[in-house]
Amino acid sequence: MFLIFSLASLFSGTVQASDAQVEIGFRRLAQGNIGMITVVGEDIVKVRAAFLDNQYLFPPNDDGEFVGFIGVPMASEPGFHRLSILIFYNDGSQEYVWENIQVLRTRFLRTSISLPADLKGLLDEDVIYEELALLDAKIKPLSDGANWLQTGLVPPFTKIPSDSFGTIRFFNGDIMQRHTGIDYSISVGTPVAAAADGVVVLSQSLPIRGEYVLVDHGSGLYSGYAHLSERLVEVGDMVQAGDVLGSTGNTGRSTGPHLHWETALGGVWVNPLELTALLAR
Ligand SMILES: [Zn+2]
Repeated sequence: MFLIFSLASLFSGTVQASDAQVEIGFRRLAQGNIGMITVVGEDIVKVRAAFLDNQYLFPPNDDGEFVGFIGVPMASEPGFHRLSILIFYNDGSQEYVWENIQVLRTRFLRTSISLPADLKGLLDEDVIYEELALLDAKIKPLSDGANWLQTGLVPPFTKIPSDSFGTIRFFNGDIMQRHTGIDYSISVGTPVAAAADGVVVLSQSLPIRGEYVLVDHGSGLYSGYAHLSERLVEVGDMVQAGDVLGSTGNTGRSTGPHLHWETALGGVWVNPLELTALLAR
């Protein structure tokens, strides 16, 4: 169900007369899920949004509609949170609309993983924190462009993942971590392709993700490819959907050959397959 709000009934702040419409396709979103918003109107040049302390840029599609996706962090607090949308017009004016969105609790899968002795150092809190902090900084910038709005995302593999998004993992009985992506069990050396056009913003070895490539697809969408055996791209390389980034492997905190594929929107890790399905509509 789509709820269509006219700005006339919801605005506050600086306003101009306009026929802009904000379509919010949801009133509730569960932890870890993605919501889609469309903003349509004359003379709009940019649309930004904020939700749960994260910033979003809504890129325009071929029809001139500004389409945004917001992610609910897996560990966000259930309850009502304000979604703020700021619309910029070509005469320099702005309009602000907001809606309270209810965040619902998700029952994420829970699993136990035993790490062999040689990988136990990768449960060190400082190691975990440092890597997450590095990635958090890399997935925040809202660069221009969004070919992915037209092309969609192409998952690296079509097989069923061996572990799903958001799983709460207990390593060696106590250390708890959220699964930021999905895993494909794949033999070492299989080519891994970019899911959409973009620019490589990380290509390096990380303690937990092993040999890792992160691609900026524009407008706040990033995709990461972890535990590779080799990387074939460098930071700054422009890639197109389907370009090979490297090969699958078993590097980092990995207990068997697999590809960990993760996507972030507006600085929030979101389910890559949910986003793929939303973009295919
Ligand atoms: Zn994984």
